Amino acid sequence: MVKENLEEVEQRIAKACKRADRNPKEITLIAVSKTKPVELIREALDYGIMNFGENKVQELMTKQEQLKEKEIQWHMIGHLQTNKVKYIVDNVSLIHSVDSLHLAEQISKEAEKKGVICNILVEVNVSEEETKFGVKVEETLELVTKISKLSHIRVKGLMTIAPFVENFEENRLYFRKLRKLNLDIKSKNIDNVSMDILSMGMTGDYEVAIEEGATMVRVGTGIFGERRL
Ligand SMILES: *Cc1c(COP(=O)(O)O)cnc(C)c1O
Repeated sequence: MVKENLEEVEQRIAKACKRADRNPKEITLIAVSKTKPVELIREALDYGIMNFGENKVQELMTKQEQLKEKEIQWHMIGHLQTNKVKYIVDNVSLIHSVDSLHLAEQISKEAEKKGVICNILVEVNVSEEETKFGVKVEETLELVTKISKLSHIRVKGLMTIAPFVENFEENRLYFRKLRKLNLDIKSKNIDNVSMDILSMGMTGDYEVAIEEGATMVRVGTGIFGERRL
């Protein structure tokens, strides 16, 4: 099933790119494997997927251990507690969910201890839903500027989780807003801040996100099926 699902997702990505006059090579598909067993990850690996997203540190580490021989790029996409940073700072390729200076400071400190530079995205709560993590649009530039002064961390772009909606078109304005914010910050040419990644779009709305400029889409259900937890 995973293979068929991946074929469909890739086709839809290609079509969305066509509509937006974009090159599909600009889009990285992150297979969100949270709660799913490593057997399904192996199926996606066999298909050629190399980027996987997890939202819990413990689960990510367990899966990494079980798939040690593979060259997987792991993405931490869930809320991250400062006391868990040390476990993942040198073995994930990107942390998508940085939403405070305190967390960024911890990441930089632990990265320095391990002798690595950690790539991160700043999570923005574009829709301003109270239940969501993420900084406000108006506070993002200030946070990015402060993070840019830390020695062992690089800001690669922005991430958002759009609201859960029946009609994906409703999220278009949020994706557009995040892209604009990304461009605004990029134009400031801040040291250590590249702003070339826009992580937005999930199973219900990744096509719209691509039309609005996403460079990474995070798809779970559409690849691995419904989650029970
Ligand atoms: C679970 C999750 C996803 C994937 O959601 P689906 O709707 O299953 O595609 C994407 N991003 C984040 C941050 C998630 O927690």
